[in-house]
Amino acid sequence: MAVHPPKRILIIGAGPTGLGAAWRLHELGHEDWHVVEATGEAGGLAGSVTDAGGYTWDHGGHVQFSHYEYFDRMMDSLLGEDGWIRHERESWVWIAGRFVPYPFQNNIRRLPREALWECVEGLLQRPEVRERPRDFETFILHYFGEGLAKHFMTPYNFKVWAYPPRELATDWVGERVAPVDLARVLRNIILERDDVSWGPNATFRFPLHGGTGAIWRELGRRLPPGRIHFHTRLTALDTERRVAHFSDGSDRPYDALVSTIPLDMLAEITGVESWRAAAQGLVHSATHVVGVGVKGTPGPHISTKCWMYFPEANCPFYRVTVFSNYSPNNVPDIARCWSLMAEVSESPVKPVDPGRVLDDVLQGMVNTRLIDSVDLVDNVYVRRLPYGYPTPSLGRDAALEALLPALEAKGIHSRGRFGAWKYEVSNQDHGFMQGVECAEHLLLGAEEETIHRPDFVNQGGARMRSIDSAAVGT
Ligand SMILES: Cc1cc2nc3c(=O)[nH]c(=O)nc-3n(C[C@H](O)[C@H](O)[C@H](O)COP(=O)(O)OP(=O)(O)OC[C@H]3O[C@@H](n4cnc5c(N)ncnc54)[C@H](O)[C@@H]3O)c2cc1C
Repeated sequence: MAVHPPKRILIIGAGPTGLGAAWRLHELGHEDWHVVEATGEAGGLAGSVTDAGGYTWDHGGHVQFSHYEYFDRMMDSLLGEDGWIRHERESWVWIAGRFVPYPFQNNIRRLPREALWECVEGLLQRPEVRERPRDFETFILHYFGEGLAKHFMTPYNFKVWAYPPRELATDWVGERVAPVDLARVLRNIILERDDVSWGPNATFRFPLHGGTGAIWRELGRRLPPGRIHFHTRLTALDTERRVAHFSDGSDRPYDALVSTIPLDMLAEITGVESWRAAAQGLVHSATHVVGVGVKGTPGPHISTKCWMYFPEANCPFYRVTVFSNYSPNNVPDIARCWSLMAEVSESPVKPVDPGRVLDDVLQGMVNTRLIDSVDLVDNVYVRRLPYGYPTPSLGRDAALEALLPALEAKGIHSRGRFGAWKYEVSNQDHGFMQGVECAEHLLLGAEEETIHRPDFVNQGGARMRSIDSAAVGT
């Protein structure tokens, strides 16, 4: 196939996806590209801030693991061998007044006897599954049984997604939900064994300084100067003439546009009625990030933990990260303080009062014994992310099918966590590689695996994807 690469390429957003596209265009020697970013910094949702108290926070707990050799090499190159701290994942579920190791279903032996029996009974009574259920509630009942559904899967998933599982599809599940192996569950109960090794992120690394955002700030710095236009927001698009208009009154013509902003916002910005209508089918949740600096040192029950899940109603958060464990530099003085970072989801069916979220989180931390008393709090940080999770709702794929090809026919490639709206490929590595692959598609006509074949990628199909240029590492 003859490829006629577009000349002028415009990238909207300097998060991992936009930066991945920019980096690959640069690496392949393409010169006519620009990135436009609404804020003053590279990183997007994968950015970090250091607050006035000297505490560093990510926008929610970010863990670095990847499905791609290209991404790994980029990470090695950006922060160097000494720029990372490596961790073994220690994740736990707080339930019934105790910690149960994750994955929960493999470690139910730690539950009170009554709840343990309900979980085992539910597993034994699971129906024979002939085809994958379409909605997540049925999926949970069929694969996990009633007991696990009642004690963990249903309440926890409502807390994370902010939508009831019956409104979610199941295509995204893949590696995101640990499967149940009945023999293994029974063996762990009878032999009284903890069973904690599952999943792609059993080990992970974290930047020594500056939080997750340090990675993306550094990549922004390595791009040729003057190509990222900060504090410039895309406000309108003339999709016929291919001209983008910005908040500072400027405009820029393009041949191809790589957009990494939320797809529903993009549809709104184009003003195209059929796209705006299709985007109504997209659902998302907001995330409140509440960082808490604590005086002293963490108690022995959480001193080595990475993050914890909270399915119960005694706290508003679904997950808390012991963020000072990721790097001692995430706090001003590790000898005298430590930090917790909580995430609370919000949607129209799970509203959150912004005036109460901090107090509710602090009380929840006391209720779940993360801290002994609110008097120990040294510092707080609260931020609401209007776009937190792209919900894999039942109507999502129809909306994406109506939008993504139609946009592409006009030279607009919508990619990334909210650009492609595919939770199953919405982590940093996926976003970065969506950008890289989009650049390769534009210049070389290559197929984009991550966005079109998410199962293949997540099952390791792209793991060995290696780089064909020596430029990474410079
Ligand atoms: C709570 C939470 C936890 C997470 N945990 C992990 C994790 O553990 N591991 C992991 O790998 N990933 C994690 N992620 C996902 C990670 O943050 C994303 O993969 C990544 O940031 C997506 O990058 P992106 O470039 O697609 O989008 P974004 O990061 O959203 O970047 C989009 C950029 O576009 C800019 N923008 C928006 N509108 C405009 C406009 N009109 N004009 C110009 N610019 C605009 C924004 O300012 C932003 O910089 C998490 C995300 C959240 C919210």
